[in-house]
Amino acid sequence: MSALSTSAVIGVIGAGAMGAGIAQVAAQAGHSVILHDNQPGAAKTGIDNIRRQLEKRVAKGKMIQGDVDNIIARLQPAGAIDALADSHLVIEAIVENLEIKRQVFAQLEALCSPDTLLASNTSSLSITSIAANLERPEHMAGLHFFNPAPVMKLVEVVSGLATTTDVAETLYDTAVAWGKVAVHASSTPGFIVNRVARPFYAEGLRLLQEGASDAATIDALLRQAGGFRMGPFELMDLIGHDVNYAVTRSVFDAYYGDTRFEPSLVQQALVEAGRLGRKSGKGFFDYAESAAKPQPTFAEPANMELPALVVQGANSTLAPLLERAQEAGLNVVYRESLQQDGSPRLYLGDLALALSDGRCAAERAVNEGLDALVLFDLCLDYRNASAIALAASHTASPEVRQLATAFFQHMGMDVAWLTDTPGLVVLRTVAMLANEAADAVLQGVCSAQDGDLAMQAGVNYPRGPLAWADSLGLPFVHRTLTHLQQSYGEERYRSSFLLRRNALSEESFHE
Ligand code: NAD
Repeated sequence: MSALSTSAVIGVIGAGAMGAGIAQVAAQAGHSVILHDNQPGAAKTGIDNIRRQLEKRVAKGKMIQGDVDNIIARLQPAGAIDALADSHLVIEAIVENLEIKRQVFAQLEALCSPDTLLASNTSSLSITSIAANLERPEHMAGLHFFNPAPVMKLVEVVSGLATTTDVAETLYDTAVAWGKVAVHASSTPGFIVNRVARPFYAEGLRLLQEGASDAATIDALLRQAGGFRMGPFELMDLIGHDVNYAVTRSVFDAYYGDTRFEPSLVQQALVEAGRLGRKSGKGFFDYAESAAKPQPTFAEPANMELPALVVQGANSTLAPLLERAQEAGLNVVYRESLQQDGSPRLYLGDLALALSDGRCAAERAVNEGLDALVLFDLCLDYRNASAIALAASHTASPEVRQLATAFFQHMGMDVAWLTDTPGLVVLRTVAMLANEAADAVLQGVCSAQDGDLAMQAGVNYPRGPLAWADSLGLPFVHRTLTHLQQSYGEERYRSSFLLRRNALSEESFHE
């Protein structure tokens, strides 16, 4: 199957934020679009808004007026649903209510030709369930755009139980022809993005609740060390806590209370208090004009003389950090022997430094018989990261902590000290994102490739979680999760069987 030709008429039902955006995308791709809303005048208002948005682009020199006029000429408002009768594809973007959506699709099915493709933009409802009472459920699929639809690249093509491969392929190819990044997903709660992204918020909330650090510092670490565009707290404030909390709750309930998706009492409290984020003026942060911008808590400069850095066993993850140390003028000395567990360790005099592996520093110091141990966090790219999280064992003296601070500061990194917390910030978040993506692949929700693509194009992750796990080595990610599970005694951190099997069989998610 291939994409619908531009002569195909596209019907869009619901002229709100999403429907108008989708109508714009289809019209920009060259289709005639009929936009229907059951509120009188709403479809016309939707098209007027599209014109205004496009004319802003003309004013900025990014578009010419002739193109805007052509796009607007292809958009036709309709007050009655009957106007959608000749559509080749109808995309529904009305209120998120199962019964109402079912009624609308039944109406459309009666109205349109038997060949018309039907698609829903639902974020949280089951496509299988919306299609259940249709005569031709095989013609129905999800076409999940992200907000704002003209800007966000990703479209999840969601197959319900009855959706045929041909229908899914046509919608996929059509989305690609419209300039989108399309991925296939099966209709399961949260599809790909809203499921796999849950740990990004959940681990941040857990770290805050457990007093590992404050919200601004955790955000800064995920940006500056993790390479994410935004940290979880500023992102939740932007999305709105009512919306984000509702999505978490719906995924948690849909998976029968799986603790991996457990909502946070910290976020619930914000919702109860009406602190919904930017839109209410206050969430984790204060958005009043007079309010100070949230500042991360980084260590004061610790100018100290640094001894040689002795490296016991290096691996590919740490190689860029060691190169950076060398370039910063440190004397780096390599020793061949590895630790018994195969993990590399760095020494500055008596201070041992190691990458977190999901255990807290106290546990490792006791198990490994170390007087002074400082754990450091994962970075997306150790050569360019501008901040890093550290945690020290209870046995580490203030002088030793100063030495660790000085080491990372010497390489130009800001240092954030956490309380001694398993998995620190970036490692724990990335391990849980990869774990969720692995489970989605295991359960046939998506391919590894589409899972990664969805997270990069849908929520701007700097690297697909599975490709990231591959690069760290799956045995390490599996070990990290197992340590987190042991540290907390919680099912929540259990490793996906697929991650475990791939780790054991030395397979990666990507070739
Ligand atoms: P919205 O409230 O902005 O718009 C919904 C529009 O549908 C309104 O104009 C309303 O008048 C119209 N409508 C309601 N019932 C109708 C009916 N029976 N017939 C015709 N028109 C009807 O909502 P939205 O944010 O655009 O969301 C629409 C859909 O898209 C929902 O299913 C939502 O879950 C999904 N979605 C939303 C987002 C988002 O970020 N807002 C992102 C992806 C998907």
